[in-house]
Amino acid sequence: MLLNMNLRRFFMRLLWQTPEDRIALLKDLVKHDSITNTEGEVNFPFYIKQTLKQLDYFKQHDSHIKLIETNDHKNAVAAMYRSHVTDDTVIIMSHYDTVDTNDYGSFEAYAFDSDALAKSFASNLNEFNEYHQSDILSNQYLFGRGIMDMKSGLMMHLSLLEKAIHEEWPINIILLTVPDEEVNSSGMRCAVSELSEFIEQENLKLLLIMNGEPAFSQYPHDDNYYIYNGSIGKVMPSVFVYGKETHVGEPLNGLSANYLISRINSELEYNTQFLERYKNEETPLPVSLYMKDLKEDYNVQTPFMASSYYNVFLFEQSAAHVFKLFNQIVERTVAECSRDLGLVFETSPKIKVITFEALIKSMKKKHGHETIHNIISNIEQTDNRLYAQTVIKDLLLLDNSNDYTVVTYFNAPYYPSVNSSQDKLIKLITKYAIKQMKKQFNRDTTKIHYFNGISDLSYVNYTHDDSDTNIFADNTPGFKTHYDIPFSAMKKLKAPVINIGAFGKDAHQLTERIHIKSVSEEVPFVLNKIFHKFFIDK
Ligand SMILES: [Zn+2]
Repeated sequence: MLLNMNLRRFFMRLLWQTPEDRIALLKDLVKHDSITNTEGEVNFPFYIKQTLKQLDYFKQHDSHIKLIETNDHKNAVAAMYRSHVTDDTVIIMSHYDTVDTNDYGSFEAYAFDSDALAKSFASNLNEFNEYHQSDILSNQYLFGRGIMDMKSGLMMHLSLLEKAIHEEWPINIILLTVPDEEVNSSGMRCAVSELSEFIEQENLKLLLIMNGEPAFSQYPHDDNYYIYNGSIGKVMPSVFVYGKETHVGEPLNGLSANYLISRINSELEYNTQFLERYKNEETPLPVSLYMKDLKEDYNVQTPFMASSYYNVFLFEQSAAHVFKLFNQIVERTVAECSRDLGLVFETSPKIKVITFEALIKSMKKKHGHETIHNIISNIEQTDNRLYAQTVIKDLLLLDNSNDYTVVTYFNAPYYPSVNSSQDKLIKLITKYAIKQMKKQFNRDTTKIHYFNGISDLSYVNYTHDDSDTNIFADNTPGFKTHYDIPFSAMKKLKAPVINIGAFGKDAHQLTERIHIKSVSEEVPFVLNKIFHKFFIDK
C-alpha cells in the first residue's frame, strides 16, 4: 500500500512547482541560447516542445502543441491546455529570443551558464562598480543573457501551465512563446493570425492576454517592482529628400539634399508636439535613428538625395495621427527653407512635399502600372528600411518632374500602443496582485499604464479605425510584400491585456539579472492566486 502510494507520488511528481525546480528550469532555458537571427533561435522551439512533452498531458495530446512558422523560417510555439468544462480562455505570452552577448566581453563564454557566470563575476569583482558588487555578492540574483528578458517569463508560464493541467483548472490556457521580438517581431505577427483563426474555429472566449516581460527599471538603480496595464507603441515616420545635383562651383544651379534634410531633422528631433501624456506618464521625445545622404564616393557633385527616419513613441495616437503632424512639420519647414533660399537664389525654389501614397499614384498615372510594378519588383534589398529607401529612390529617378521633392513615408517596424487601464477586469487583477505582493512578500508594487520596453503585446487588441490602418499601409513601401502587420487578426484577438513579470535589472546589459525570490516564488504565487480568484473559484 505504502509502496503503491509512493509509486503514485513518484509518477505524479510535478516538475516545476518548487522554487528550486523553477530555478533549474530557468537555468536550462538560458543554457539553450536563442539570440535573435541565430541557429539557437531556430532550434529553441523544438527544445521547448521536448520540454513540454515531459508533461504527460502533452505526451497524450501531442496535437495541443503547435509550431507556427514565421515568414523568416523561425517557429513560434503555442501549447494549449484544454479544459472541457468551459470555452473561457487566457493567453499567456512570452518571447524566447534574446539580444546578443557582445556586451559580455571577457565573460562571453559564460553568458548562458548562470552558475559559471556568477562565479566568474565574483572572482573579478573589481571590474564592477559598488552597486553591482553588492548585487553580485548578495546571492539574491541570477545572471545570464536572457535570464531576465525574458526567459524568466517563459519559465513562470511553463510552471503555471503544469499547475493548471495537474489541478485540472476550469479555464483554457494557451501558452504562446515567440521568436524575433528583439528585432522585427516576425514571431508575434505570424502567431496572431494563426491564433485568432484557431480561437474563432474552436469558439473559444478570450478573457485575458497576459504577457510576462520582466519589470524594467524606470530610472538608474530603481528598486521598484511594476505591473503594467499596457505597452507603449512606436512608429517610424520618415523623409526622403530629392534636391538637384550640381557642381560645387555652381551651387545655385542645384539644391543640396543635405541642406533640406538637416533643417527638417532639426525641426523633428526632440519636438515636444509629439509628446503624449497619460495620467502621470509621458512618452519619450522623438529622435532620429538614421539620417544620411545617398552619395557613396567623394567627388565635387553636391549630394541630391538623402533620407532620415524617426522613432516616435505612442500612447493613444495611431500611426495616422502621427503622420498628419509629421507632414505638417515637414511642409512648414520646407516652405521656410524655400523662403530662406529665396534670399540667395534668384527666385525661391519650388519644393514639393508629397506622401509616398501620392507619389506612387502619380508615377503610375504617368508611366503605367506595369512599369512601376516592374521597377519595384526588381529591387532586391532585404533590409526593410533600405528596401523602402530604394523604392522611393527608383520612383523619383524615373523622370525630371521629381526634382525638388520631399517624400514622407513610414519605415518598419510599427508597434501600435495597447492599454487596458480602463478595463474592469484589469483594474481588479492589478489591485489584487498589488495587495497579494504586499501581504505575502512585503513587496511594494506600482502600476504602470504603458510598459516602456516595447513588447509584442502591441500586436493584440488593435483598436484603431480602418482608415487609420490604411494610411499606414499605403505609406509604407513594401507593406504586405516585405513587411506585414495583421491588423484584422489583431482586432479579432480582442481581450484586455496585462503584463506581470519578475523583478530584474539591467536587461540587455552584461549585468542582466533576475531576482531569485521574485521569479521562483513571488510572481508564481501571485499568478496562481490571480487564476484562482478570477477564473477558477469565481
Ligand atoms: Zn523582452
